[in-house]
Amino acid sequence: MVELTAFGLFLVDTSRGSFTQLALFGTLMLSVLGVLHTEIAVGLERLRRQVADTPHGDLSSVWTFAAAVLLPPALTTVVVLVIFTHQWFRVWRSIRVPAYRHIFSTATVVLACHAAAAVLGYAGGGGLRGLDGPRELLTVAMAILAYATVNTGLVAAAIALSAPLPRPSPAQLIGHWDDNMLELATLCLGALAAFALGSNPWQVPLVMAPLLVLHRAVLVRQLEEVASTDSKTGLLNAAAWHTQAAKELRRAQRGRTSAAVLILDLDHFKSVNDDHGHLAGDEVLSAVASALRAEVREHDLVGRFGGEEFVVLLPELGRELDGSGELHAIAERIRHRISTLSVVVSTPHGSLTIAGLSVSVGGAAFPEHGAGLENLMDAADTALYAAKRDGRNAVRIAELSELPRQRAPGRR
Ligand code: GH3
Ligand code: MG
Ligand code: MG
Repeated sequence: MVELTAFGLFLVDTSRGSFTQLALFGTLMLSVLGVLHTEIAVGLERLRRQVADTPHGDLSSVWTFAAAVLLPPALTTVVVLVIFTHQWFRVWRSIRVPAYRHIFSTATVVLACHAAAAVLGYAGGGGLRGLDGPRELLTVAMAILAYATVNTGLVAAAIALSAPLPRPSPAQLIGHWDDNMLELATLCLGALAAFALGSNPWQVPLVMAPLLVLHRAVLVRQLEEVASTDSKTGLLNAAAWHTQAAKELRRAQRGRTSAAVLILDLDHFKSVNDDHGHLAGDEVLSAVASALRAEVREHDLVGRFGGEEFVVLLPELGRELDGSGELHAIAERIRHRISTLSVVVSTPHGSLTIAGLSVSVGGAAFPEHGAGLENLMDAADTALYAAKRDGRNAVRIAELSELPRQRAPGRR
């Protein structure tokens, strides 16, 4: 549908007649720069596409948006086709993206360019050569918004319609905040490139340097995110949790505030795997992670420690942190939530609901039960072991009388 509309518009645009030499020169220039950009950034982009799981802005929109500002729609479409066809051979094909997806993205960009051109045309700014006042600035801002909305909206709709259950999160549909800001920044550069090209083409290559730096910055952020995330649950992985938790604890030490650690271990998880298979086990882990995340505050650090074990660092809890205090209440709330969890998993024989899960939780608080992260983890681990020993599906908070205590053999 999207593809047909884009193709139809192209035919209508082309039938509308002749183009000025300046427009043809602009088409050539933007196509060459787009191709050059892909060539320079090909390594960066392949890596970025491999690590990103969200529909992120495409940095080639600098050139496609510039075309939408400067050129008639038919030539804009030519620029999009040249850049995207080249990208297909240099980036997408080698990381095995299906062709129909790339054709769809190309068509969404063609439609986004039309939306931007429509805004510019409506405001009487077709072939804008620069900004002379607030009116033009506003027009360009609206065109940027139109481009981004059409592009992101169509991609989000396609993902929403084709995604299997469970439904993707809003971030997976429309991209993270950062991705959208990047898209807007790219489009602003696109507008500048168009104005530069309109007044003196020799200025245009200057856009390339900030563009490549943007590109690198995005890749670094995405790599950082991948390196600190546990892919199965989306929580922090053990190393990232440790680093961030140690930092939070140092902050608590400096500010003389409180903090606490919880360690959670699913009970008899091996039997979930034995009864329903590892894939079902993985889905349970993911559901437990979501439940855990939902039960604590936004700034609490939740990590997957390994296997079926999770850790939470809770900064700045209330002062009353004895065994029956706030920490115990939070841990109890989590334990209860997990005990009421029903996880629907899909198996080759249809979907099946796994319920009756339980978790044992050990907790320790700063400064009562330890001064550093290792001491706190030790104390919480000992408490967890006590919860297991006392029959599982239970919460135990470290007891002052038990500190320091030898760790039970066999555990970390
Ligand atoms: P306990 O109540 O004593 O904790 O019993 P348990 O069965 O949970 O503990 P045990 O340590 O014996 O087994 C942990 C199980 O967790 C064994 C392993 O198969 C499973 N497990 C660890 N990591 C994963 C994973 O990533 N996916 C799945 N599906 N299972 C995992
Ligand atoms: Mg375990
Ligand atoms: Mg276990």
